[in-house]
Amino acid sequence: MKIICIGRNYANHAKEMNAEVPKEPMFFMKPETAILKEMNFYYPEFTRDLHHEVEVVIKICKVGKHIALEHAKNYYTHIGLGIDFTARDIQRECKEKSHPWEKAKAFDNSAVISTHFIPKEELELNNINFHLSINSERVQEGTTSDMLFDFDTLISNLSQYITLKTGDLIYSGTPEGVGPVHRGDKVEGFIGDNKMFVINIK
Ligand code: MG
Repeated sequence: MKIICIGRNYANHAKEMNAEVPKEPMFFMKPETAILKEMNFYYPEFTRDLHHEVEVVIKICKVGKHIALEHAKNYYTHIGLGIDFTARDIQRECKEKSHPWEKAKAFDNSAVISTHFIPKEELELNNINFHLSINSERVQEGTTSDMLFDFDTLISNLSQYITLKTGDLIYSGTPEGVGPVHRGDKVEGFIGDNKMFVINIK
């Protein structure tokens, strides 16, 4: 199983990062060991600026390569929510040195994933409202209608480069409003009113 994360899929997030809006989906990967498997997240010692990036997650349901755009919808049945935790200070260093981002993005437990997934028929895929709360205060919210590349385009594009397999997760990018988390925070993710995950930063 692998985790593919889309970068800069929301124009206003690209703007807050002073980054260019991509013309083609931009992606990077996290290993399986990045999945957070419990409710407690332990703040890593190597960063002082850990950021939340709340993202809608597509779960791949069958193997595919070179998937045509019109067939992409057949490769997922369920949608979840996650956090692409990012060590922003380390990411900044990587960018300055033109190094890959993995150190800032792919570390253990950096991929929060919801405890449940929602059947896609129950959602309006191009208008999924989602948000993240910290200590009951809404800190980040978005709608998939603002994505530069929709789910089908992402699947079709990624599969030109990488074979997608059952159980793979695609983190579809974060809207604007990324920011720090701190020890003691209670972080909750929602799709609509549906609570998808709760984690405690330790
Ligand atoms: Mg992200």
